Amino acid sequence: MVFGLQTPMIRPKLSVVIPVFNEAETIPELDRRLKALFASLASIAGSWETVFVDDGSLDASGDMLGALAETEPRYKIIGFSRNFGHQAAITAGIDRAEGDAVVVMDADLQDPPEVVQLMLDKVAEGFDVVYGVRKRRQAETVFKRATAAMFYRLIRVMTRVEIPADAGDFRLMTRPVVLALRALREQHRFVRGMVAWVGFRQTAVYYDREARFAGETKYPLRKMLRFAIDGITSFSVLPLRMATWLGLLSGAAAVLVGVWLFFVKFLHLGAVPGWASIMVAVTFGFSAQLVMTGILGEYIGRIYEEIKRRPLYIANRETNLDPIERDHALSRRAGPDVDGAQH
Ligand code: UDP
Ligand code: MG
Repeated sequence: MVFGLQTPMIRPKLSVVIPVFNEAETIPELDRRLKALFASLASIAGSWETVFVDDGSLDASGDMLGALAETEPRYKIIGFSRNFGHQAAITAGIDRAEGDAVVVMDADLQDPPEVVQLMLDKVAEGFDVVYGVRKRRQAETVFKRATAAMFYRLIRVMTRVEIPADAGDFRLMTRPVVLALRALREQHRFVRGMVAWVGFRQTAVYYDREARFAGETKYPLRKMLRFAIDGITSFSVLPLRMATWLGLLSGAAAVLVGVWLFFVKFLHLGAVPGWASIMVAVTFGFSAQLVMTGILGEYIGRIYEEIKRRPLYIANRETNLDPIERDHALSRRAGPDVDGAQH
């Protein structure tokens, strides 16, 4: 679009990246809330863009966004060729967002757009990453809250990266962070962990997580589980080390049983015990081995998917985006040439 070509050097002050998967019911309200937000942010003076990533929606989401983008050139759209998932959609938006500050937020209004003001205040204080921490999740089921709480604690224990508890992907990043993040092209993406990993000055803002504005969660339990496993395997090899522990444990158990049997046999303490102890030892050893084989499989599968080096998503539609920024994003895909990409 001519708008983009003529002014490639002027980047918006604020980019908002929004992954969208079947959110037709929410889009009109989202549009209203976004425009109200941008109007209320005095510090950006109308210099903003919103990058919607249509993650292969099957409902009217794509058409509705297209219609909005016709009258608002600052609404930009990347359309995927199929559903690649929430994390891939976030990645695409971050790849193409041009702003000095980039905010990632969900389309369902669970991340209240008004919190962006608080995030910008933190940037003014000198922070590079401002993540939203959920104070209250009253709108979500007890099961979701409990499993989420467990997961965040588990990943904290298992990794060395300081992944903030109870923070989702709702966060603001300044451009240097965005450029650093673009260099990480791993297949199984746990974006909130990757943002923690790149470092910079990070801080939190607290907000109440509201109920979904409309529709159902697009994260059924199966997807949540995969996501949790991606998070752990991306940042920890601790599960692999479990083999050593299990080995030591069963070794120690074998020694104890051996000592016991020695006394039983040579002190003639009773009949030779057989069946029960052998069965316990065999089944313990057998299940430990299967568990470890499974864990090995998880990691080997990931190595396999990584070495294929497939693109993380395929975009087949673009609206209002600046092609120059795309070329930079594409060249970056080849390697971590982050500095050279800054224009
Ligand atoms: N989403 C997506 N692709 C998917 C699933 C979800 O782009 O495959 C988007 C969805 O439209 C929403 C965000 O990711 O904007 C978060 O999804 P959702 O609200 O369903 O997750 P929850 O808040 O229940 O964890
Ligand atoms: Mg949601």
